[in-house]
Formats: sequence, C-alpha cells, structure tokens
Amino acid sequence: MKQLSIFSFTHQSLQKYLIYNSYPKFAADQIFKWIYKDFEIDPNNWSNISKALRSHIIKSISTTLPKIKIDLLSKDGTRKFLVEFEDKNCVETVAIPGKDDRLTFCLSSQVGCCIGCTFCNTATQGLTRHLATSEIVGQFMAVTLWLQNNVDSNIRATNIVFMGQGEPLHNFESVKNATLVFLEDKGLMLSQRRVTLSTSGLVPQIEKLNEFPPVNIAISLHAAHDDIRSELMPINEVYNLKRLFQAIKTIKLKAHRSITYEYLLIKDLNDRQIDVNALVKLLDKKLSKINLIPFNEFPGSKFQCPTDERLEWFKDQLLNRGFLCTVRLSKGQDIMAACGQLKSSST
Ligand code: SAH
Ligand code: SF4
Repeated sequence: MKQLSIFSFTHQSLQKYLIYNSYPKFAADQIFKWIYKDFEIDPNNWSNISKALRSHIIKSISTTLPKIKIDLLSKDGTRKFLVEFEDKNCVETVAIPGKDDRLTFCLSSQVGCCIGCTFCNTATQGLTRHLATSEIVGQFMAVTLWLQNNVDSNIRATNIVFMGQGEPLHNFESVKNATLVFLEDKGLMLSQRRVTLSTSGLVPQIEKLNEFPPVNIAISLHAAHDDIRSELMPINEVYNLKRLFQAIKTIKLKAHRSITYEYLLIKDLNDRQIDVNALVKLLDKKLSKINLIPFNEFPGSKFQCPTDERLEWFKDQLLNRGFLCTVRLSKGQDIMAACGQLKSSST
C-alpha cells in the first residue's frame, strides 16, 4: 500500500514536495489542473508532465479514490453514497440538488463520531477513526466522478457542507487541509461562502478558527437552556453555553460574516414558548442566523418530530423578534440521507 495520496496535497505542499524531490515547482499547477479542473486522475494521461515525474508519481504516490460501494437515489433527487476506504471502513456522503443548478455535497469528516449526541444516528456507532485529508477530498472526487459518469458529464458541486458523519473540528488539521483544496484557485475553487462547517461546539477548536480558512460556521446549538442541551449533547457538560458563547466571540466575524445556529426542534422538549424566549435572549440578532431542523427519526431514536404547525409557529416567533430564520428541509429521508440519519452502513 502506498502511504502517500495525491489527494492529501494542498497546492503549496505539492510544490514543496516536488522541489524536495528535484522536480520543477510549476508541475504542481499542471497536476492540480489535471485533477481538479479536468477531473483526470490517471497520471498516464497527464500528457504535459515529464515521463520521469509521471513514473515517480505512479511508483510513489497513490491516485486511487475511495470506492463507491452503494448509491441510493431518493425521490427528491438526493443521492446517498456509501464510500469505502482502503482499510474497508466506510462513510456516507450525500449529494443534494437545489434550486438554480445548486448541488451540495454533504461530506463526512470521521468514521463515526465520539460526541455522543442523543438524537444522532452516527453517535450510535461511536468513533472508529478520523478521516485523512485525502479521504475527505477523495469523497468529493469519487462522488463527482460517479455523477459525471452516470448522470451528467459536466456536473460539479457548487456547495460543501461538513455535516456528514463526524465532528469536523475534532479532526481539525485534515478538515482544514481538505478545505484548502476545496477553496484554492488552483484546486476546486469553491467560494468561501459556499462551504459550511458545522460543529457541536468543541470550544478549544472554535478558539482556533482563526487558523482555519474563513468558511461559514454553523453551531449545533439545539437548546438555549443548559439542562436541555446537556440532555441532548453530552459535550455541554464539558463546554456549557457560557463557555461556548465565550469561544464564539473569538471568531473573527469580518471573515465569517454571521454565525448560523442550528436548532433541532424536538416535540415537547425544546419547542416551547420558554425555549423561544431563552433563544432570543441568548443570540445577537445582528450576528446570527437560525436554521431550524425538524428532528429526523431513525430506527431506535427516542425523540419525535414536532408537527408542521409547531415548526411554523416556532419560526414565526423568531421572525417576529427580528431574527433571520430558515427551516432546513429534510432531503433524502426515504433513503435515510437526512441530517443525523447517517451511519456507516448501506441502508
Ligand atoms: N458533528 C457536526 C456535524 C455533523 S451533524 C455537528 O454536530 O454539528 C450535522 C447536523 O445534523 C447537526 O446540526 C446535527 O445536530 C444535526 N442532526 C444530528 N442528528 C439529527 C437528527 N436526528 N435529526 C435532525 N438533525 C440532526
Ligand atoms: Fe457527532 Fe454531530 Fe452526531 Fe453529535 S450530531 S454525534 S457531533 S455527528
């Protein structure tokens, strides 16, 4: 097994690698163009790269992508892929079509997750391991190539959300390097505003976000009372709301514009008037967007989704108080691809 993967390199680290191995630095531009602009990942076809460098890459660097083991299509057009890595561990990656040719990839950052949120299907499998940068970029590339081969040869993702399996800030360096490849002009060249990282609230890593490219940050808040948040998210026992908001204050908002707060609505638990009041008190409406997520059920889940009326009521309460508030439509529920339904299995 080759240790090094071509998908682990940022443009700059590939330049450094080439110089170190006595190859010209500009070959990094050419290699990145082949991979991230032309989606040609076979070095044998990189016609403008010297034979010596091509042989070096073939010998020393893996260009293999993770395997798409299973693909499922929802009736709303969402596709869920079971992606298998070299060691046979799997994650799920979701491709969600939207308005105006928007195509969002929901990427996983870990095999499983150790944060243990009581409403999340991923939590039930625990954490197996972090994903490497190459495996995060690899999900993007494998799903893109699958879609290009099976659906539309010109298809490209327009948005990325780190909302698949895993806590992205628990795997800070790999997620950061993958994000650089997604944003770099020489790489996939996505706009910062189209990449969103969602976190359960790992305070020390939130305080390090100034070292991270300035993408959108979404905080999984889910409750405005410590006791309810602790019931839903054990991490709140370690980093309670006060600590969380101290950390959020350190995020440089010039780059991040505003923070999105994800609020999972669960029937009779956090969908009451007192919850609206506490939420309004906790958040600064000028700097916050609220994204309401109706709870998605999965086999064995112990919570229930609120009624549509309750969801509308909760939203209106926030809108009436001047908050920017949207409801996240749950896509792909029929194939268990919606938020919190992902697990490293096929169905
Ligand atoms: N670990 C990160 C990102 C992955 S989860 C985080 O927790 O933020 C992406 C979003 O899905 C989070 O807001 C999470 O709270 C939400 N989610 C988890 N389980 C859910 C469920 N059963 N129904 C709806 N949303 C859920
Ligand atoms: Fe992990 Fe996010 Fe699921 Fe919580 S909601 S267990 S942090 S993946």
